[in-house]
Amino acid sequence: MSIYQKFGLKEVINACGKMTVLGGSAVSAQVAGQMADSLSHFVVMNDLMDYAGSVIAEKTGSEAGCPTCGAASGLAIAAAACVAGNNLGLIEKMPDSSGLRNEIIIQKGHAIHFGGNITQMLRIGGGIPVEVGLSNKVAAEHIQSAVNEQTAALLYVKSHHAVQKGMQGINVMLEIAHNHNLPLIIDAAAESDLKKYTAMGADMVIYSGGKALSGPTSGFIAGRLKYISACRRQFEGVGRAMKVSKEAMAGLITALENYSPDGENPQAQRAAMDEICNRLRDQQGLTCQVVQDEAGRSIYRAEIRVDEALAGISAAQLSKKLKGGNPAIYLREYYVNQGLLSIDPRPLFNGQTKTIVGKIKKYLSEAKND
Ligand SMILES: *Cc1c(COP(=O)(O)O)cnc(C)c1O
Repeated sequence: MSIYQKFGLKEVINACGKMTVLGGSAVSAQVAGQMADSLSHFVVMNDLMDYAGSVIAEKTGSEAGCPTCGAASGLAIAAAACVAGNNLGLIEKMPDSSGLRNEIIIQKGHAIHFGGNITQMLRIGGGIPVEVGLSNKVAAEHIQSAVNEQTAALLYVKSHHAVQKGMQGINVMLEIAHNHNLPLIIDAAAESDLKKYTAMGADMVIYSGGKALSGPTSGFIAGRLKYISACRRQFEGVGRAMKVSKEAMAGLITALENYSPDGENPQAQRAAMDEICNRLRDQQGLTCQVVQDEAGRSIYRAEIRVDEALAGISAAQLSKKLKGGNPAIYLREYYVNQGLLSIDPRPLFNGQTKTIVGKIKKYLSEAKND
């Protein structure tokens, strides 16, 4: 029996992306099978973690890897690794890091909310976030002058949530970090290129297992052996509150082994989005165009602009109606305050684009007849 029937839940059409609020990813049958198998057996968890680490290292081109239960816990564990290192006394003391090198430098436009506050995740691991520069303009000098004896690491955030203009690039942060013998952590949670940031020289790169990888709720840190060993040890400390289950590791490993960044087929997704725009062309008050992801990933979304005066309904009202129906349709609404809603092709199943178009037309026509 499906989860909808069994637990009396609304069916969901996910047109916004891999969202925690919608349960992350829908995993492949192969990933689900491996997870189910792991659930009915015992394993030596350390050995499973070692194996996961070796797959992470191989797939990212890094020296070592550490599985986590998500990118958010990856941030906390990476922070704790920088502050407490391999010292058990300190590991068991986190997040109390008073008197230790604990500052983590982050550009102000990177101090984001991804569904949670990124700076809070650092604090969970004993890191003290130090935001530098201004939200739309950060100079290399802002970063440089924030480094002092208390600095434990620098953090760069590669994300569509971050301010894209006026920030310093990875190379600038790498140079400053390495000139001071400090690690650079990169939060690449939703990125699909698993090798790029390690190849650039980042010391720890954090990914979510439930986003581009389409794995279960999970994540990992890829990086230099010295830091990854320290990350692993944090499971004797704050990591205990975010332990990684055997089924999550089994799913993550399988998703990694099957992963190909080209597997997403952006051409086909783009064609599906063009089709949606064509079908919405005659709707009064709506304009639709296919646009590329704001962070430059190969994701093409149908972006619908709602002109409230002509359509008789605002983008926010339309989105609310779509979410309120059954099936509940979730569009991407980060720019709803500007009258924009967009359709993300990645989490959609066959036939769902037709349902979405049908429902949009229905609610528009109801709005006109009101
Ligand atoms: C989603 C996201 C996270 C958190 O990832 P989880 O795997 O859900 O814990 C952290 N950072 C960024 C930039 C994200 O987009």
